[in-house]
Amino acid sequence: MISLAIPNLTGNERKYLINCIDTTFVSSVGEYVTQFEKMVAEATGSRNAVATSSGTTGLHVALNAVGVKHGDLVILPTFTFIASANAVRHCGADPWLMDVDTSTWCLSPEVVASEIREHCEQRKDGLYHRESGKRVAALMPVYTLGNTPNMLAFRVVADKYNLPLIVDAACAIGATFNGQSFGSLAELSVLSFNGNKTITCGGGGAVVGNCEEQTELVRHLTTTARVWPDYDFDMVGFNYRMTNIQAAVGCAQMERLSSFVTVKRNIHQYYKINLEELTRKGITFFPSTEGSSCWFSGIVLPAGETLKMAKHICSLLKEDDIEARTFWKPVHLQKPYGNCPKSDISVSEDLWQRIVTLPCSTNITEEELAKVVISIKKIVGKLL
Ligand SMILES: *Cc1c(COP(=O)(O)O)cnc(C)c1O
Repeated sequence: MISLAIPNLTGNERKYLINCIDTTFVSSVGEYVTQFEKMVAEATGSRNAVATSSGTTGLHVALNAVGVKHGDLVILPTFTFIASANAVRHCGADPWLMDVDTSTWCLSPEVVASEIREHCEQRKDGLYHRESGKRVAALMPVYTLGNTPNMLAFRVVADKYNLPLIVDAACAIGATFNGQSFGSLAELSVLSFNGNKTITCGGGGAVVGNCEEQTELVRHLTTTARVWPDYDFDMVGFNYRMTNIQAAVGCAQMERLSSFVTVKRNIHQYYKINLEELTRKGITFFPSTEGSSCWFSGIVLPAGETLKMAKHICSLLKEDDIEARTFWKPVHLQKPYGNCPKSDISVSEDLWQRIVTLPCSTNITEEELAKVVISIKKIVGKLL
């Protein structure tokens, strides 16, 4: 079976893990955690990084740190992985779901600006959503596939309404915007190092940012808000720290970041070039913004096709021993989020049904890629 996206662990992972056991530093303190934070800060162009137990806990603690509270709203694209919405809900807040842009699959800054103009009023203590009476507490774009939306436009909106800009950069390690790493574009950006991401720690995450006060608050919150040396706690904190074992794997992975990102970009290009003839049938490819980290690759079925066809193609690929999947079902269609405030979400509603993700592990071989291309051509040729 050619897998969709599996870890590539042929570097120093084993060596560093053995070192954790030999030194007994297996828990949330250790040299690998410190080293991993340094590597992540550098790779994202951020002054500070705080390693967390997962991307989801990183998002939760970041939203918590900027003051998202029970009863608030957080502006979020509906086309994202469910964890983005869960992090908002874990704060007791609701996502205010908006649409994405077809050229990036990211939240559209124009949509956000016009929705705020139309539905909000500025009061002394913040921006309020008129219909629900709720305070809008943060603006949270997602770097879908490692693509970046126009972050300068988001900065304008965030500054105008005094909203903290928190980015779900879970799948974006290695991405750049205007030639620079993304760490300084938002107050806090949150990464994931889950098993299917470009860099994995097994599980893990990181919150990065430039404001020391903010990242130190994040660090404090992830470590139960303990005031050392005694058992004093000055806030309701979390146990969200990454362990040295996770970070050991992460350090070995980060040593190979640039080669992994290069491979991801090459896979994206490979499909685009070698499946070019399918564009005559209306097939398109995943968008990639300049500097995209190209986390996932795949095809988009022609307009008018639906989820049923995407699933059918996946099952036919499986018969050829190729793992392919559909992609994120929008948040507003998920049971826990059906009643959240939302704007017109027609792009997301149509788009998600037509996506087929294709194998894109960093250890995929040329031969395997060629096999995927042959199989896709055969299947699409018959069906469309
Ligand atoms: C992977 C992912 C997450 C969740 O990260 P975990 O480490 O699995 O908790 C959140 N948001 C997006 C967009 C993701 O791709």
